[in-house]
Amino acid sequence: MDHKKSEELFTQARAIIPGGVNSPVRAFKAVGCNPVFIEKAAGSKIYDADGNEYIDYVGSWGPMILGHCHPKVVEAIQKTAASGASFGAPTHLETELAEMVSQAYPNVEKVRMVSSGTEATMSAIRLARGYTGRDKILKFDGCYHGHADSLLVKAGSGAATFGVPTSPGVPADFAKYTLTATYNDLEDVKKIVAANQGEIACIILEAIAGNMGCVPPAEGFLQGLRDICTAAGIILIIDEVMTGFRVAYGGAQERYNVRGDLVCLGKIIGGGLPVGAFGGKREIMEALSPEGGVYQAGTLSGNPLAMSAGITTLKLLQEEGFYQQIEEKSAYLEKGLQQVTGNSPVATCLQRVGGMFCTYFQNGPVVNFADALESDTDAFGRYFRSMLDQGINLAPAQFEAGFMSIAHSKEDLDRTIAAVEKALAAV
Ligand SMILES: *Cc1c(COP(=O)(O)O)cnc(C)c1O
Repeated sequence: MDHKKSEELFTQARAIIPGGVNSPVRAFKAVGCNPVFIEKAAGSKIYDADGNEYIDYVGSWGPMILGHCHPKVVEAIQKTAASGASFGAPTHLETELAEMVSQAYPNVEKVRMVSSGTEATMSAIRLARGYTGRDKILKFDGCYHGHADSLLVKAGSGAATFGVPTSPGVPADFAKYTLTATYNDLEDVKKIVAANQGEIACIILEAIAGNMGCVPPAEGFLQGLRDICTAAGIILIIDEVMTGFRVAYGGAQERYNVRGDLVCLGKIIGGGLPVGAFGGKREIMEALSPEGGVYQAGTLSGNPLAMSAGITTLKLLQEEGFYQQIEEKSAYLEKGLQQVTGNSPVATCLQRVGGMFCTYFQNGPVVNFADALESDTDAFGRYFRSMLDQGINLAPAQFEAGFMSIAHSKEDLDRTIAAVEKALAAV
């Protein structure tokens, strides 16, 4: 497959944009090649600058659950744009999307719109701190909640000690307020909470960890966290930026029947446009400016184009049987993959929840970040490059989830399964 034009565009981009990309994982560094530059997409397919076609399982990292360029979403964006792209004043579209979110997530009584998932989690954490008057937060190793300072932190040496920055530019003095625990390990959480009594404002987590592949919550893990938070007056923030409207209309919280005090959303609710949202209990949300004192703002927050793309997307997701179809397509792919991986000497472990999945290059199972790190990332790189060469676009890193869309056809899935068989032979 020829990538001549992409190589040229990448060279040009690198001269003016750090690493040639506006978000690091797009650079394909983890898979040992250069990125393809995308020209357009439609349905389940994406097309690069050299005219190559790929079946797409990235879906813009999750938002494109309807497939690319759904005609109704395109029409909604065009119609809204014709009336004005942004006013910096309230519109009814914001209320409409907020009501739709609240209907899907009954614990979300009030919602604030922002422009990215990063903003949603960052603001939810500030709100939790402002509301509780506590400074410390607890997150889990391997969960990603965007790139705010207090979240670019990993565990220091020794459990229940200060967090340490994972990026230059994050002051150690900020990081020390972030405690980190092992995903799916309630005992670890209990220990940390006991050692920091009355000091933890919130526990934030992905209810299905999709930024270390695809790690479902262990039986009782979410309910256990819910109980710990309720008992200790800690705000439970469930980050559903990826899983919201993905694994069910009501997200992971509907699937597992556990409710956060605050919820973060993004990706799908913008229908492919820049968006984020956070919401939750009325009493907590009312601590937010201008009702309360916790400051938060945004020039483009609740942008009309993003709101109308989101509203149209959510309406389409409400169609009878939508999530069942996503489940059936994903189960069909899983079954096919299991057959070909089972026949291969390469160690792999497929983990899936609804329309999100990950093939780890190891025997598994993967239940936390340390497990995920056991994967053979070089093997994944060879697999990725072979898949790309066969016209299948996967996320260019081992620790990312793949996403199913409603536009993927049986033929797409069969082609993917055949490609995996060939790619494994090349690994
Ligand atoms: C993508 C993601 C974010 C960050 O969202 P951005 O829009 O990229 O800022 C936060 N949390 C989770 C779980 C995500 O998957």
